[in-house]
Amino acid sequence: MSNIPFYQSQNNEVELFGHAFNNQLPLLIKGPTGCGKTRFIQHMAAKLNRPLYTVACHDDLTAADLVGRHLIGDGETYWQDGPLTKAVREGAICYLDEVVEARKDTTVVLHPLTDDRRILPIERTGEVLTASPEFMLVVSYNPGYQNLLKGMKPSTRQRFISMRFDYPDIETETTIVQQEAAIDKDTAIQLIELAHALRVLKDHDLEESASTRLLVYAATLIKSGFDPIDACRAAIIEPLSDDEETVEALMEVVRAKI
Ligand code: ADP
Repeated sequence: MSNIPFYQSQNNEVELFGHAFNNQLPLLIKGPTGCGKTRFIQHMAAKLNRPLYTVACHDDLTAADLVGRHLIGDGETYWQDGPLTKAVREGAICYLDEVVEARKDTTVVLHPLTDDRRILPIERTGEVLTASPEFMLVVSYNPGYQNLLKGMKPSTRQRFISMRFDYPDIETETTIVQQEAAIDKDTAIQLIELAHALRVLKDHDLEESASTRLLVYAATLIKSGFDPIDACRAAIIEPLSDDEETVEALMEVVRAKI
């Protein structure tokens, strides 16, 4: 059990993931950055004893980056499987992080894998792979970033079981920060109260809010002996905004809470 990454559940997500895996259903996770999506999938992959292939999607990501390509070596061309193909063959979990960033041709590749055919046609080699029963496709995106061009098409979205993640409640987040940074409870609670004060401001000037990840960073610096106020500036406030006035205004909140 000890090599299963720590994950503090927030709801019924562990149970739902298990049912999706057992029934060969693809899964979509929506939620803001740094709220535990990646950790959750790492935890579930280890628990279900499946290898995990993670791909951080970006706007240059092509279908070939997922499926594979011909390479040249020793004067010969050979085929190299991409992460999606490897996962399909091995019965692994393939996690596409920020899937809406990927080019449209990549979603075309996903479609036959997300219905009951569960196949991956590889155009370049003429192979049609049938996914191993233990293969699972998991995708995530941050609805906060969405714009009209980048939003997921309803026809794609409707191929997935969906779950929504958000920042945890105070008690859960305290446990996470304490556990991740090995810090005392009082400091963890102070940081979480600071995060809540900052999250209320989210809709004003900030694109993103203080994530659990940033709280873990701040707690880690404090645990390491760094000044708490400076730790909050470096780990929480500066990552949130480039605007100096905004940073100074947010530092006032830090000084009031820490
Ligand atoms: P996301 O994939 O949503 O951007 P991550 O899963 O990478 O976020 O989480 C960022 C960090 O926050 C993790 O490395 C971990 O330290 C911490 N974390 C967030 N939520 C949890 C949780 N529920 N259980 C354990 N750690 C968590």
